[in-house]
Amino acid sequence: MNTADIIVIGGGLSGSAISLGLLENGGGNVLMFDEQLPTQRLSRGNFGLTWFMCKGAGHPVYAKWSRMACIEWPEFAGKLKQETGMDVELEWTGGAVHALGDAEFKAHAESIKTIQNTCADAGIDYPVEMLDRQSFSELIPDITLGDEVTGAMYTPSQGHVNPLKLLTAMRSDFQKKGGTFLGGQTVSAVVPRPDRTVLVKTCRGDYQAGKVVVASGHGSARLLSALGEKLHIYPQRGQLMVSERCRRVLQIPVLSVRQTPDGTFLIGLSTEDTALNNRVTAEAMKRQAGEAIRLFPMLGRLNWVRGWGAIRVMTPDGAPIYTRLNGHDNIYAVALHSAVSLAPLAFSIVAPWILGVGEHPLIQKFSNGRFHV
Ligand SMILES: Cc1cc2nc3c(=O)[nH]c(=O)nc-3n(C[C@H](O)[C@H](O)[C@H](O)COP(=O)(O)OP(=O)(O)OC[C@H]3O[C@@H](n4cnc5c(N)ncnc54)[C@H](O)[C@@H]3O)c2cc1C
Repeated sequence: MNTADIIVIGGGLSGSAISLGLLENGGGNVLMFDEQLPTQRLSRGNFGLTWFMCKGAGHPVYAKWSRMACIEWPEFAGKLKQETGMDVELEWTGGAVHALGDAEFKAHAESIKTIQNTCADAGIDYPVEMLDRQSFSELIPDITLGDEVTGAMYTPSQGHVNPLKLLTAMRSDFQKKGGTFLGGQTVSAVVPRPDRTVLVKTCRGDYQAGKVVVASGHGSARLLSALGEKLHIYPQRGQLMVSERCRRVLQIPVLSVRQTPDGTFLIGLSTEDTALNNRVTAEAMKRQAGEAIRLFPMLGRLNWVRGWGAIRVMTPDGAPIYTRLNGHDNIYAVALHSAVSLAPLAFSIVAPWILGVGEHPLIQKFSNGRFHV
């Protein structure tokens, strides 16, 4: 039978970042499977923000976790570039959430105060401020704001990346360092054995490992339920749309609109309850395009060339799940939204915890057991 020290099931952003961290921390022979189903393309179909703003209101631990990830992002991107030669196109230009009208401006300002208090309790800063219309406009001088825009909340300490390049760079670094990536190989079952190893059954034969990490997005629930673990996740569809290329006029990403270094605009902030149906709909596209045009009227003059839907992995409190399975302490599961933003921590904190070479004090706060009532 094929053997490995650790098997990671799922080669999305989480599985790839963790696998790389496992290798770099002495994990030995690490094998990563990915089935590459078109219905599970969120690691290839997301918006690419590396973001902490607005995350963790009422959840100090998640606020701190998100902030910690952002602090590590520039170094993580530099490391990937140095080791693979691949530029993940991280732009650390800050990020904004615009306000339409006075009521929204006031609500944004209040939400900053709330999270600032939350963060102060958790011993971290929350470097976010409100900009009035004039200051917001001066920050992005090459693009004209719509008449209803009253300002924005803004932080200089976050940014955006090319998520496809990120995924490629992490997988490539993993393989360069000796890891094995088996794409198109579906895992059908994870079976603990009496000798404390784990049998991983795949469509191309069985494998045996000392440890297993289930990082299979929406595919995780089925694998884990057979082990008696109910994973507390639910699906939420998001739709994104991409414009033709044009001159670079927006250097700072806004939560719902960003422009990439090659000139395309991306729009996307829809949230829908559609189970695992990832199709696009004219209604959602029209609604989010309309909102984006209220922010930047010039978007109404562009051709929109592509659109897609992808299904977020959401948890009841919005924070990630990093968990060791009850009764199977060599089987781990991770499931989360915001795996782009949190990739540096998957590499630097989650992987060492799985290996047992370092347990960050916050990690136990993210167990799946927090939702068991
Ligand atoms: C519209 C949209 C916009 C988003 N924008 C952002 C953003 O701006 N910033 C941010 O940080 N996050 C964003 N996200 C969230 C982010 O994309 C996800 O958190 C991330 O992709 C999750 O990665 P993952 O590796 O945990 O899961 P997945 O991407 O689901 O990866 C799991 C992998 O496991 C594989 N798999 C499943 N079952 C099996 C099996 N049985 N055997 C083998 N392989 C299996 C799947 O094929 C898949 O490739 C967005 C998501 C969406 C949908």
